[in-house]
Amino acid sequence: LTTHNSEDTIVALATPNGIGAIAVIRLSGLDAIAIANSVWKGKDLTKQASHTIHFGHIVDGDLVLDEVLASLFVAPKSYTRENVVEISCHASGYIIESIIKLFIKKGARSAKPGEFTLRAFLNGQLDLSQAEAVADLIASNSKASQQVALQQLRGGFSTQLQLLREQLVNFASLIELELDFAEEDVEFANRDQLKNLIHEITKIVGRLIQSFELGNAIKNGVNTVIAGRPNAGKSTLLNALLNEERAIVSHIPGTTRDTIEEVLNIQGINFRLIDTAGIREATDAIEQIGVQRTMEKISQSALLVYVFDATEITIEELNSDIESLQKPGITMLLVANKMDLLESESPEDRKSESLASGKIQNIGDFFRTSGLPDFRTISISAKEKQHIDELKQKIYSSAIKDQLSGDETLVTNIRHLEALQKTEEALIRVLGGIDGSITSDFLSMDIKQSLHYLGEITGVVTTDDLLENIFSKFCIGK
Ligand code: GDP
Ligand code: ZN
Repeated sequence: LTTHNSEDTIVALATPNGIGAIAVIRLSGLDAIAIANSVWKGKDLTKQASHTIHFGHIVDGDLVLDEVLASLFVAPKSYTRENVVEISCHASGYIIESIIKLFIKKGARSAKPGEFTLRAFLNGQLDLSQAEAVADLIASNSKASQQVALQQLRGGFSTQLQLLREQLVNFASLIELELDFAEEDVEFANRDQLKNLIHEITKIVGRLIQSFELGNAIKNGVNTVIAGRPNAGKSTLLNALLNEERAIVSHIPGTTRDTIEEVLNIQGINFRLIDTAGIREATDAIEQIGVQRTMEKISQSALLVYVFDATEITIEELNSDIESLQKPGITMLLVANKMDLLESESPEDRKSESLASGKIQNIGDFFRTSGLPDFRTISISAKEKQHIDELKQKIYSSAIKDQLSGDETLVTNIRHLEALQKTEEALIRVLGGIDGSITSDFLSMDIKQSLHYLGEITGVVTTDDLLENIFSKFCIGK
């Protein structure tokens, strides 16, 4: 890709359209500096060095629009690798609109969403995964998501893939060569070496695919439902987790009729906690809706925190709840609540009561027979805030198997994940092909497919549709 100083110069507001002291209007393209200079009162901008800032006025004929600063970036030393001027003006909606209109009158056109970054990509400033990282970085709302986006922006992700791809390209060309000599039945590409390389790439691609779980959790958070029978203590627990009085707590069963959503950050991961209406046979229509929503929310979640009142529930009810809530793809955490009440009871009383009523005699024993691993069961008191930190730890380890190591390359983008999965499939076909001694032309086809999908990630292989799809999701001005 060569640097291209586009003949159509684009303009857009780069800062948010709202209240603030200063707004930045960005111009990029061949005529960016000339256009700015044509409405400029101050030093001749066309004669100034790159990376300099100038004080002056934007004027429309005799009318002074604003007192501004102009930052100059001369191609190719700019974000887009084109001539870029950034005007810092006062953030009045009127001023911003007037200046942009003026630039358009002088020959610029309004930038499309993401067009600055698209130009940066087309001019080789960023590869595609880096361009996407720009959007992620702007959207990042936690330390972990900012770190992962920054790492991707710096190219950690794409460098690794690029190296793999180059090695594979070498083999592909050797196999192509074999096709030219088809009559003579030669093998330029050593099959064992090819197999080793494919194994190596498959391993790395597999690891990247695996990293999506953590990458996605960091970028998008983990949907977590708190469910349980009315009065189990769901709302009290939500408050204890958030350390605030947010959800409505009451002793009337079924009070939490609609769902409440809050974000809990545990070790850099945002867990979106959803408190739900109780699960039980709903008696009135409003509750019925609540129960339906609960089931819907559960099906959209990755983690289900099932809370039960350890003093009240019977083993039979508990087993039936667990069975009905278990869904593929959702991890369940069992939380025995109101342990403060249970602990105040004498073991003898508890034993005779549990024998008579079918209630739980000993939570520890019950958990051991549940077959769930230790990190998925816990006893707490939501009201007395006992074992809340341990619960947070268990929420984290139930959802996130990998630990965040800092320098690990993580996949956070569903587009990348899909391309990696297709790469993996093609690579497995290549391996099968080598073992089954298929002909060079079929082998070559499968290798080309893996190259294609690997290339889609970094943007070596692109289509207009793909670019349109990615950049249209950006804001205008990015
Ligand atoms: P929800 O219907 O599941 O949301 O239950 P709530 O959070 O509204 O709690 C129902 C009742 O149980 C309230 O009176 C709470 O104060 C009480 N409660 C909740 N957690 C505990 C606990 O750990 N110990 C005790 N003793 N009471 C609790
Ligand atoms: Zn509640």
